[in-house]
Amino acid sequence: MHVPLTISDFIERGALVFPERVAVVDEPDVPGSLGRLSYRELAERARGLALGLDGLGLGRADRVAVVSPNSARFLISFFGVSGSGRILVPVNFRLNASEVGYIIEHSGAEVLLVDPEVAAALAGIRVRHRFLLDGVEDADLFAPAPVGREPNSWEPDEDATCSINYTSGTTARPKGVELTHRNCTLNAIAFGWHTTVTDRDVLLHTLPMFHCNGWGMPYAATGMGARHVVQRKIDGESILERVASEGITIMCGAPAVIAAILGAAEKRRQAGREVPGRDTVRLVVAGAPPPSSVIERVETELGWELIQIYGLTETSPLLTINRAPLEWDGLEPTARARNLSRAGVPAIGVRMAVDEEGEVLARSNHVFAGYWNQPEESAKVLVDGWFHTGDGGRLDGAFVVIADRKKDVIITGGENVSSIEVEDALYSHPAVAEVAVIGVPDDKWGETVKALVVLRAEFVGSVEPETLIEHCRGLLAHFKCPTSVEFRQELPRTATGKLQKFKLRQPYWEGRERLVN
Ligand code: AMP
Repeated sequence: MHVPLTISDFIERGALVFPERVAVVDEPDVPGSLGRLSYRELAERARGLALGLDGLGLGRADRVAVVSPNSARFLISFFGVSGSGRILVPVNFRLNASEVGYIIEHSGAEVLLVDPEVAAALAGIRVRHRFLLDGVEDADLFAPAPVGREPNSWEPDEDATCSINYTSGTTARPKGVELTHRNCTLNAIAFGWHTTVTDRDVLLHTLPMFHCNGWGMPYAATGMGARHVVQRKIDGESILERVASEGITIMCGAPAVIAAILGAAEKRRQAGREVPGRDTVRLVVAGAPPPSSVIERVETELGWELIQIYGLTETSPLLTINRAPLEWDGLEPTARARNLSRAGVPAIGVRMAVDEEGEVLARSNHVFAGYWNQPEESAKVLVDGWFHTGDGGRLDGAFVVIADRKKDVIITGGENVSSIEVEDALYSHPAVAEVAVIGVPDDKWGETVKALVVLRAEFVGSVEPETLIEHCRGLLAHFKCPTSVEFRQELPRTATGKLQKFKLRQPYWEGRERLVN
């Protein structure tokens, strides 16, 4: 028997098995907060959203974009949009109007769901239907489906596109990663299994839901009937408060989230206050390699289990997982942390390899269908049945170690920044003759954006680094802007005129084992 795998399986099971159980605790004190919803209510509201999209005339495979920090409505959208055969386009809410506008236009989204916090900035974007997620304008759209009314039926198709997740990569503009229902479903099942999600779990949404659909954890937790707790902003103390008050057992995030939690825990200890979650919380980290000293602090100071995963939006994302096996039980904390600092071993159904140039390759059912409307870009990374990650690394037995980056991407605070996009912004300033944008190590963000600039002769002495940073802030989302600009006489190039970025990066990364952070 062949039954199509779709992400509806998760909400259907959650609602069937645990109808009365609390499914989601929305962020309180925000406009239109939905409070606590049971699994029955979550499923009814997802059906209500599907009905609402029917009413707007949206057909199969039509796109619905959402620009919002984490919220119960975002969770409903995963199921109400993708679960009814439409395609969800989750967008980073830190992007500026022109960046979001590009994504809306490129994806062809017919509906834009926008959080009040970013609505004013995005007011100029043209789209057929726009709804403010304030509990008023979107009240009908997110209302539970009336009894007896079913949305238009959709013939489930596991190869249909579930979401298009825009990600910055090797091109100036972000590319739309098309993830199918099969990709998302198998990723969520493998992820939930490897991190042992059960119906007793309470998931704190510390990872942005827009980032690769919260890595698929929202699906996995829903299928098991676990409780979701919405975290809108990353604040270490508020995370610790919720660990205590909501009984959180699992959360995901980039290394910057860990840093916030460790900082807040330190303050609590100094004030003689308890740090909650010892022996009960699992913290899943990805996006950049966490330093082993940080891993050790999580395990000793917090007493939380640290699990590392590695993957990309293009791979749904789970490729490898590093979770301490039985054999490491007796290890002293430093050795255990060192072992955990590698990206991990292949997840079930994933094959990993490293080619002769040191690029990490992957083959799995989690690998995406292709970039939306960019077949030539898809063909560059999907070659002979292997996905080319653009990461440099090596194999250590079954373990994958990520040590370098082949692609021109900087990862700051867990989000990708395309160097080319920042270089384009700098080139649009009249004083800039030449520029190279590189990632340099940073304690808080892992990496931070640095621009090395050669000024046009007539501007030397009259332009300050701050002027160029401000110029970028007018054009790009702030997280993409350089935090420092250095002026140079010239930039090293090859005989064919290609910039030698590795040479430029070298001095900033000296003495480090890895050239990524
Ligand atoms: P994204 O598509 O935004 O999720 O970014 C994917 C990129 O993040 C990968 O290509 C890696 O460069 C980086 N990355 C993700 N997880 C890890 C990890 N555990 N260790 C090192 N780099 C990572």
